[in-house]
Amino acid sequence: LLRGGGAGNPRSASVAAAAELRRRLEKELEDIRGAGTWKSERVIASRQGPHLRLTAGGAGILNFCANNYLGLSSHPEVIRAAAEALEKFGAGLSSVRFICGTQSIHKDLEEKIARFHQREDAILYASCFDANAGIFEALLTPEDAVLSDELNHASIIDGIRLCKANKYRYKHMDMQDLEAKLQDAQKHRLRLVATDGAFSMDGDIAPLREICQLAQKYDALVFIDECHATGFLGPNGRGTDELLGVMDKVTIINSTLGKALGGAAGGYTTGPKPLIDLLRQRSRPYLFSNSLPPAVVGCASKALDLLMESNAIAQSMAAKTQRFRSKMTAAGFTISGKDHPICPVMLGDARLAAVMAEDMLNRGIYVIGFSYPVVPKGKARIRVQISAVHSDEDIDRCVEAFTEVGRKHGALP
Ligand code: PLP
Repeated sequence: LLRGGGAGNPRSASVAAAAELRRRLEKELEDIRGAGTWKSERVIASRQGPHLRLTAGGAGILNFCANNYLGLSSHPEVIRAAAEALEKFGAGLSSVRFICGTQSIHKDLEEKIARFHQREDAILYASCFDANAGIFEALLTPEDAVLSDELNHASIIDGIRLCKANKYRYKHMDMQDLEAKLQDAQKHRLRLVATDGAFSMDGDIAPLREICQLAQKYDALVFIDECHATGFLGPNGRGTDELLGVMDKVTIINSTLGKALGGAAGGYTTGPKPLIDLLRQRSRPYLFSNSLPPAVVGCASKALDLLMESNAIAQSMAAKTQRFRSKMTAAGFTISGKDHPICPVMLGDARLAAVMAEDMLNRGIYVIGFSYPVVPKGKARIRVQISAVHSDEDIDRCVEAFTEVGRKHGALP
């Protein structure tokens, strides 16, 4: 403990400032607890997968809340590829890309990502959060405009905040509102419509056909964040643009390597080559952050190989999703969204969502309740995420537990 001298002593001043900071932080933490929005973390003692072991008791927990859509996080070939990359290329680069941090595997992965999405080029980031933080500022100037869905992911919102373009926010998936905003934005040099391909809280899919038609009509570009689509939406898992038949109309895709594509970490932008070249020169999270570690690159690279060899993995999830959605609907629950492995079980009341999620865990099923401010007031829900590696029995067990718990707490008659 620092012991300062008199009041004028800089050491005692800093002790007082630290004490004041501690008081302020404790009050803020108290407020978060008081508001019922405290997020606690359950500690997993096993690999990520459909069956987990938690440190706080409980083996054989059925997991329905990871973004491990294809089950590749623990796929033996993905793990082996990571180990090989680690052995051959080392733990990490101790450098950003442009100084001393580009290995052949980084270039290979970028080429593979571009090929997977049928785009000209791709650039890697430490995360998709970084890819979103880095693109708008590098691309748009005060002469330009960006039009953003009001429910876009926080990282898109933050990326847009950092840029100096004119900002328009259109109502969630509301094409009339987007059209009005596009008309308003005609005065600017360039218009970029930015949307999540699939929205993670509702499991709904952006109306990309309509968005692309409007973009064509008003001479705008389309940007999509495909974190909850890459690897599994569309006949070959290419994403929302493939699902909706607009691969040639979406100009820029940002996505993650931290969900369906092996789940390690990392993100990317893929699109026209001059854009990617510009990002390498100007995008701050790329320029000023360490290169992706080889093991992480190895995971993603193998995940993409598996997906490009066959569309069986991408396809395998759709049937599981359908099973869960139809059985839950038959049991009397309302599931938001359509055909997406994010299956929000709509409950309305925040307390009900919290106690039901807790009771599900007591029955060995790990699901998470979401309430305000993560979702709008009165729209609390339990979000269930289906993975290709859930068995039919896993899904049926989850539906049975929901039915029991729903009856117990009055969510079902
Ligand atoms: N965009 C969306 C829609 C996401 O859901 C997420 C992750 O939660 C991100 C971006 C950030 O991705 P990453 O985890 O790679 O930073």
